[in-house]
Amino acid sequence: MIFLAALPLLLLCSCSPDAGLDEAEILPLNGDVIVLGGGIAGLTTALEAARHGASVILCFRERPDERWMWRDGILGTGEEGNAAALEGALRHYGGSEGKEWHYRLLARRADESLAWLSRETGLKVIPAGGFLYLPENLSCDQAWERLYNKALDEGVRILEGVQVEELLFGKAGQAAGIKLADSHGLKHTAYAPAVVLADGGYLGDGERMEKLAPGRPVASWRGRGEGDSVRLARAAGLDLVQENLFSYTLAVEEGQKWVEADPPPGTLLIVDKEIYSFLPQAEAELASAVLQSEAGTGYLLVAEANLEAGAEPNWPRYPGLGAFLEAYGIDLPQLYRRFSRPQGYFYGCPVKAAAAYCLGGIAVNEAGNVLRADEPVPGLYAVGESAGGLHGAALMPGAALTEALAWGRRIGEAASRYAQG
Ligand SMILES: Cc1cc2nc3c(=O)[nH]c(=O)nc-3n(C[C@H](O)[C@H](O)[C@H](O)COP(=O)(O)OP(=O)(O)OC[C@H]3O[C@@H](n4cnc5c(N)ncnc54)[C@H](O)[C@@H]3O)c2cc1C
Repeated sequence: MIFLAALPLLLLCSCSPDAGLDEAEILPLNGDVIVLGGGIAGLTTALEAARHGASVILCFRERPDERWMWRDGILGTGEEGNAAALEGALRHYGGSEGKEWHYRLLARRADESLAWLSRETGLKVIPAGGFLYLPENLSCDQAWERLYNKALDEGVRILEGVQVEELLFGKAGQAAGIKLADSHGLKHTAYAPAVVLADGGYLGDGERMEKLAPGRPVASWRGRGEGDSVRLARAAGLDLVQENLFSYTLAVEEGQKWVEADPPPGTLLIVDKEIYSFLPQAEAELASAVLQSEAGTGYLLVAEANLEAGAEPNWPRYPGLGAFLEAYGIDLPQLYRRFSRPQGYFYGCPVKAAAAYCLGGIAVNEAGNVLRADEPVPGLYAVGESAGGLHGAALMPGAALTEALAWGRRIGEAASRYAQG
């Protein structure tokens, strides 16, 4: 393992006149495949590329640290083992705006991806209804750690705590490497014929988000440092799909942050003059209703009498339906008909649609190659959340992990073969 902290040991006298460093040049790193990003997509890609014989350099800024979480689970074809039905569900969520080849690949590889993850990490899953499976025995951190150790065992050189600053290209426009900075601010260059961008979405970049989606809240669990590859791609003239395209979740304000609402069973959602029953499987549609509402705000409401013990949400409590309606200036008398005891206690609060996942990002083709002026850039790939436009209008729950695994394995192999000629 190489941590970048050790790289200053490689300081040499300058041997290249255009090295761009004042007194000394740091010996460049060389490999077959460079993977940018240490999330599930980057780790999977690096591991598979190494298994296919490539010399791999994996660089990332920070460990995922509970960001890769089993909140929804991961996709499989369900008890019926029906890949065609899963493909149809993915298409339904995407609203015909995603890529057919992406839906097909995910549906065909979902079970295999899950089996691969189980084999690599010892993960056991339990069916959670429909196409979802939930982990039984491992936290996301444990699973990540096991994949990380497998990558080390396969000889992947891991540069942790680094910031990738530039993508490098050869004379014919092909991928050639990256420039990066370590935690001491020292600049390094790594060369490889294949480069894979896997550094996730960019929701945590407040400045960019304010420009792309002004005033739009972001679910706070995406608030950590986020990927730079979209910025790097723009600087390099690569194609982006519509960048301001996000998957939304219903979120409530806690302190200064927006956090996922997680309403208990029996909750109603009020949007303008409409009343919806909250159903987790309909969250994307409900978030969309809030997004398109006049005020961009909805209200969650649940009667205390309908709650199971211990299921009380962390929302303000009101003595009667009238107090709730008055608190938010809601004029909706028909709401009384929904409750047998409107004078009982209620929990309620405003809710927004918060961006939770980047559906936009770097444009790729069916082979996972990044595009420039609609043409594939030889040796340059994007995978995971940094690759945009695959899912269409909304992300099906559990699809992100399946995508990272299915595409990570595919691109790992493809990049390795390309680099080794
Ligand atoms: C709380 C939570 C729960 C979730 N639950 C589920 C779930 O149950 N099911 C599901 O399918 N999906 C889930 N997701 C979504 C899923 O975790 C993400 O889609 C997935 O993590 C994306 O993986 P990735 O590898 O593409 O990117 P990321 O996991 O975001 O990894 C990006 C990596 O790139 C590094 N990086 C970024 N910029 C740079 C730079 N300039 N230089 C160097 N390194 C850089 C980062 O440090 C990080 O290592 C959840 C997400 C969260 C946050």
